[in-house]
Amino acid sequence: MTGPFPVQNATVPYWRTQLHHLDSHRSTPELPEKQDIVIIGAGFAGAAVAHYLLKDIPENGQKPSITIIEAREACSGATGRNGGHIRPDLFVALAARMRAQGLEAANQVALFEVANAQALEDLIRDEGIDCGLRRVTTGDVFVDAGEAAKIKKLWDAMTKLDDGDCPTLRSVAYHGPGDGEAERVSGVKGAKVAFTYPAHVVWPYKLVMRLLEGVVEKGVNLQTRTTVNGVSETVDKEGYWTLGTARGPTKAKKVIFATNAYTAGLLPEYDDAIYAARGTVCRVVVAPDGPGPATNIPPLGSAGLEMESPNTVDSYYGLREDGSIIVGGGKSVFIDEREEWYRNYDDSTLIESTVPYFDGWAKRTFTGWEGKTETESIWTGIMGYSADDAPHVGHVPSKPGQYICAGFNGHGMPNVLLCAKGLAEMIKDGRPFSETGVPPVYETSAARLRKISDLVAAPTTGRARADIYLKF
Ligand SMILES: Cc1cc2nc3c(=O)[nH]c(=O)nc-3n(C[C@H](O)[C@H](O)[C@H](O)COP(=O)(O)OP(=O)(O)OC[C@H]3O[C@@H](n4cnc5c(N)ncnc54)[C@H](O)[C@@H]3O)c2cc1C
Repeated sequence: MTGPFPVQNATVPYWRTQLHHLDSHRSTPELPEKQDIVIIGAGFAGAAVAHYLLKDIPENGQKPSITIIEAREACSGATGRNGGHIRPDLFVALAARMRAQGLEAANQVALFEVANAQALEDLIRDEGIDCGLRRVTTGDVFVDAGEAAKIKKLWDAMTKLDDGDCPTLRSVAYHGPGDGEAERVSGVKGAKVAFTYPAHVVWPYKLVMRLLEGVVEKGVNLQTRTTVNGVSETVDKEGYWTLGTARGPTKAKKVIFATNAYTAGLLPEYDDAIYAARGTVCRVVVAPDGPGPATNIPPLGSAGLEMESPNTVDSYYGLREDGSIIVGGGKSVFIDEREEWYRNYDDSTLIESTVPYFDGWAKRTFTGWEGKTETESIWTGIMGYSADDAPHVGHVPSKPGQYICAGFNGHGMPNVLLCAKGLAEMIKDGRPFSETGVPPVYETSAARLRKISDLVAAPTTGRARADIYLKF
């Protein structure tokens, strides 16, 4: 048993206050002895891979036998604890990726995120999923003058690129400091610059639970509260991998790791590539004893706020139809307390310094906010940060029959769905990664893991750690 694995007694996110009947479901009392496919993890990635593995197979068609094994309750990981934003990153992350990986890769990712948002909207409509999906105008808002000046310079440079070189920029509007425009458009006190663009908000747990319900109806065996504590190094004589659990072993021809932050617990070769980062989200409501609701409801449906330099997004929020606000982040108060977030897997406790941060957050943040707010609930969640800022999708190197769909950072909602679809096509149709439409920089490979370890691990350990585990 290696680990780390999901901890028990996790804090309770608002999204998990109305539990679905499959939340702690076990389709059979025992784990199946063997099956075609095991998916480890019942978050967005695991549920979406299962959905696409079974999609379009006729009722009487040949279906693979599939088991989803989940350490805790269904959708109790990052997906059940996030901010509920679907915000394709059309400019700020595009610019960062352009510098790191080139314009072509940056455009591929931005367009992929737009396609994900559309695919998600289509899926939710076609399947009639009741998950509070709403279109909103979102914003990236810069309050710090230095950061605002830097980003404006970048915007000027990028908008000078020939039309067509950065197609997603056309959906972004710039609002500057003149006449208080950025502040007026964003509703954020002291905003110097704001970029606005289309996005969505969603109740992520309801979305994933309906996907899980759909696949369980099609015969998938869902096994919650079962941690996979190891996978055999090789296949047996019949070509099955053996997965260990406290409830006994189970075997599968194909194993899909939808384990996000916990991937290295089972695949140590990913230890440098995908690591845990603990974050906080809360739900802010107008206090019952306050002077009444806000008189000036923030104009944007969601936003990421850069309050000071050199921190990146310090907080982010999404408005709910009931008037409450889901707020996440608080980075500035805990970023220096590294042990509180870096490789921290404990979502059963809070990052204490964020608690006072969120009290009074609305009043500190919005112009004209007169309502008194209280933090109705606050929770932590574990993100799977990717060292090179891109998820890992595809064949696990040197382990034929093992696949990965993980490492979605704090940005899985506009990425997971089509990554899962692409992976399902690789598995059921034998489609090569290059034909899935998933951005090439998302493809996992031994070369990519080695490169990450060279950069990340070599300076501290003197050797590239992935090499210890990679067989070629
Ligand atoms: C605090 C926070 C805020 C966020 N806000 C946003 C946001 O607003 N917008 C956005 O786009 N993204 C956001 N994210 C990121 C987003 O939630 C993730 O990228 C996305 O949910 C990843 O989905 P997943 O299925 O890969 O991971 P998860 O939902 O974490 O699912 C992985 C599952 O695998 C299970 N598992 C792991 N190891 C094992 C094992 N050994 N055995 C059995 N089961 C195992 C876990 O229990 C978990 O349920 C946020 C994340 C956090 C934590």
